[in-house]
Amino acid sequence: MSNNKYKILVCEDDKNIQNIVATVLEASGYKVITASTCTEALMLGESYIPDLVILDLGLPDMDGTEYIRVARIYSPLPIIVLSARTDEKDKVKALDMGANDYITKPFGTAELMARVRAALRSINASANSNGDIFELNGMTIDYSRRHVSIDGEEVKLTQTEYNVLTFLSRHPGQVMTYTSIINEIWGHADLNSIKKLQVNMANLRKKLGTKPGDTRFIINELGIGYRIQDPM
Ligand code: CA
Repeated sequence: MSNNKYKILVCEDDKNIQNIVATVLEASGYKVITASTCTEALMLGESYIPDLVILDLGLPDMDGTEYIRVARIYSPLPIIVLSARTDEKDKVKALDMGANDYITKPFGTAELMARVRAALRSINASANSNGDIFELNGMTIDYSRRHVSIDGEEVKLTQTEYNVLTFLSRHPGQVMTYTSIINEIWGHADLNSIKKLQVNMANLRKKLGTKPGDTRFIINELGIGYRIQDPM
């Protein structure tokens, strides 16, 4: 399928990075609009209605998170944060404000394109996921039967483990923060929430037959959250 119908707004004040990102996206058939400031991005966002935004956080006029805050008032538009900030707190803040994903500079173009595809797919995924089946590296989740199997063998999960797994699987390739998972599963966070989540994740990964560091199904984004592999 051609990507030509997708418009991507790239907001980045570093002209070199802006050019690289625009060139890579255009080579894959996307339409690209560029902005160098947060104000410009907000204006272009209104007139061009992009399908996805790639957003730098360190912008000359204001912090990129301001764009996320304003954009989230209007739409569920996917936003991928592109940031030189390596502090986990900044990533978690951007994700919890509503960014869909983040990429840390320096980044590889293959990684960037994979994240773009995953974020664009998530626009359509929520619409047709009911009664669907999720398949990844031998694992099958049958949502209508609430049934999980690996290589044909049933995996018996608790309610919570199943809920965490399906929540991740509804956002393939995208990191889900501790807060977003906790809010989804328990409805609210308390002092023990992260510990409770980590215990459930450890049990889940054991039942899926994966050892710590094994990325066949779920990737542990230390200090941030979890990401399920993208079956593409
Ligand atoms: Ca910058």
